[in-house]
Amino acid sequence: MTVRRVLAVGAHPDDIEILCGGTMARYRREGVEVTLATATDGNRGGMGVAPEELGAVRRKEAAASAEEIGAHYVSAGLPDGGVNPTDEAMRQVMVDVVREARPDVVFTHHPDDYHADHAATSKLVLDATFSASVPLHVSDEPATTGIPPVLFMDTLAGIGFLPEEYVDISDIFPVKRSMLSRHASQIRWMREHDGIELLDFMEVMGRFRGIQCGVAHAEGFTSRHAWLRQTPRRLLPG
Ligand SMILES: [Zn+2]
Repeated sequence: MTVRRVLAVGAHPDDIEILCGGTMARYRREGVEVTLATATDGNRGGMGVAPEELGAVRRKEAAASAEEIGAHYVSAGLPDGGVNPTDEAMRQVMVDVVREARPDVVFTHHPDDYHADHAATSKLVLDATFSASVPLHVSDEPATTGIPPVLFMDTLAGIGFLPEEYVDISDIFPVKRSMLSRHASQIRWMREHDGIELLDFMEVMGRFRGIQCGVAHAEGFTSRHAWLRQTPRRLLPG
């Protein structure tokens, strides 16, 4: 199977850039169509600003990041802090995100990542990629063909995560950095709220995964191991 279309779903704007931005940039360089989706628009990730206003700013930042690599950006519009994989309406929204993107491979959070929205998005995406292929699960979009493999992105700070596969992002690292730089509101928020320099944090994660596989910078992934999700070939770039 040739990878022609890829979908990455993060819980909040900036998650994808931190955890798999370099891999998405490499796919684009190889001519693969890439959709970057966020389950929420992250409208609670700030202070002193109305949630609607913050949501609009963050959607713009995410769209600008996607534009850096010529990817599509979609916000599923689910509530920040309230992603719920058992909510039928939320699953329906995610089914449509999957059906519109028609991906050959899907990226999302690891089920054990630190934030409730990350774990919930992981489960929601897994379930939605299955439902999207079921024709009698009716929506505005036609059913997809087959159930796509799902790759889990690293956890934040890599805690409890041992990659099964790596992508060398050394030469494309400046693009990843530039994508994350677009999230100015979050860089400010993390600095003021958590005392974290987000760009440095992301660079250290990339160098650490790089050390593990013998390159300057890398991103690591694991797979969802389940029947109908397996494939005999590498789906990642390189
Ligand atoms: Zn997040």
